[in-house]
Amino acid sequence: MPSSKSCNEQTGLSAQRAAVIAELAIASGPRVVTGHDVRAQHANTLTWIASELPDAVVFAESVDDAVKVVRVAGRHRVPIIAFGSGTSLEGHVNAPFGGISIDMSRMNRIVAVNAADHDAVVEAGVTREQLNDHLRDTGLFFSVDPGAANATLGGMAATRASGTNTVRYGTMRDNVLSLRAVMANGEIITTAGRARKSAAGYDLTHLLIGSEGTLGIIVELSVRLHPRLEAEFAAVCEFPSVSAAATCAMESIQSGCCLSRIELLDDVMLRVTASAGAFPASNCGAALFVSVEGTQRAADEHMQIFACLVTAHGGKVAGIAASQSDRDRIWKARHDAFWSLRNSWPGQAYVVTDVCVPISCLATCIAETTVDATRLGLTAPVLGHVGDGNFHAIAVIDPNDSGARGRLDQFLKNLSTRAIAIGGTCTGEHGIGQGKAYAMPGEFGPALDVMRQIKSALDPMGILNPGKIFPKDAPQDVQGAE
Ligand SMILES: Cc1cc2nc3c(=O)[nH]c(=O)nc-3n(C[C@H](O)[C@H](O)[C@H](O)COP(=O)(O)OP(=O)(O)OC[C@H]3O[C@@H](n4cnc5c(N)ncnc54)[C@H](O)[C@@H]3O)c2cc1C
Repeated sequence: MPSSKSCNEQTGLSAQRAAVIAELAIASGPRVVTGHDVRAQHANTLTWIASELPDAVVFAESVDDAVKVVRVAGRHRVPIIAFGSGTSLEGHVNAPFGGISIDMSRMNRIVAVNAADHDAVVEAGVTREQLNDHLRDTGLFFSVDPGAANATLGGMAATRASGTNTVRYGTMRDNVLSLRAVMANGEIITTAGRARKSAAGYDLTHLLIGSEGTLGIIVELSVRLHPRLEAEFAAVCEFPSVSAAATCAMESIQSGCCLSRIELLDDVMLRVTASAGAFPASNCGAALFVSVEGTQRAADEHMQIFACLVTAHGGKVAGIAASQSDRDRIWKARHDAFWSLRNSWPGQAYVVTDVCVPISCLATCIAETTVDATRLGLTAPVLGHVGDGNFHAIAVIDPNDSGARGRLDQFLKNLSTRAIAIGGTCTGEHGIGQGKAYAMPGEFGPALDVMRQIKSALDPMGILNPGKIFPKDAPQDVQGAE
């Protein structure tokens, strides 16, 4: 588990770090901030992981700014932590060795929309909502929609993010065509063109996607866009139990039913989500929120097929939203479910788990996880992108309960071990950061050494977001111990 404070917080800045900050301040002026509140905001983990502040924050406004930060910090071997919106959940933006947080949110220009090719070129700080607002009149949209609406596309690529639409449109892995990035040596690379496919050389685009700021700073992305379809329904379906809902989700995917979203909420998550007022509260055991899209005829047909499966599992379609505003209300409520939970139980700590398993194992994995939570005396309501086999059991912990931490650690370990043992992963979408590094050896075995070799080849001094992804990764060369 990470320590609670970076050493620079405890002992003050070294002359060397002060020199880096001074050099950056000469180059970037007021965009270099050393005030405590801004540094704290750039290490806010939103969760149980203690914050570890950077020494300074630089607000990049251009590719040149990013290059400058990498070159100056690199020359002094000071860590650089890329920052998008800070919505990641595993201590990704923490600075365990101090260093420079490079905030990319001001690099938020939409460079080009190539409507005929169904793609767009954007700077890394563009958010998915900003891009979709921009596309409103084009008949196209960008599909990846993590629950945090203000996540940046750079951060989403760096965490290989996904969302409610992934069951139909894929993750960031499927929706990024090419990246422009500043590498650890300050060189700018472009990983590919805008072609839909390429068989040329190593796939650097997909190497950087999911690299969590440890291999390069993404400054620009070419992303795929999708046409909006003629008809869409959204429905809330109620079930007697989580197991019935999960089995229905599994069978609907296996049957080829053409859903564009299928999200599970257990009874607790359903109640707290309903409290926001988007749909009526219900006493059922679980719910599936679904969307079906297509031509009018196809959407009608697939909604009917899905409704038959719901009935077969003892559920009922409680309401169908056909208008855009009703659909938006339902999906906003689902996206805000985490905040609704926090509002319902203020003052608690929240640990959002994120395993993903083969779809045929989903119902059993959720059931075993719930039994384990009860056995360990933990409250851990469940929601998730179940069409992908991905679910979140959100452990709600009383920060004043000293025994809870040990039970929580056991729960987390059991959950990732369970998922990995059945061919799944410890994280479907949130990434590793600091919080899940412990699970990497179990998930990858010797392949983790290959990842380490890639990291050392591309970032030999270990300056890019050190202390993430790899367990106990404290690169020798980084100037951390002051
Ligand atoms: C309420 C809530 C719901 C969420 N729901 C989902 C969900 O449904 N699906 C999902 O996938 N995630 C979800 N998340 C997690 C989070 O939103 C994603 O991980 C998101 O992709 C992070 O984007 P960001 O811009 O906030 O990145 P940050 O948190 O700022 O950074 C995340 C990581 O990416 C690196 N990084 C950021 N920008 C760059 C860059 N330009 N170049 C290189 N590295 C960079 C950082 O160093 C860090 O390691 C949720 C979070 C919250 C709070």
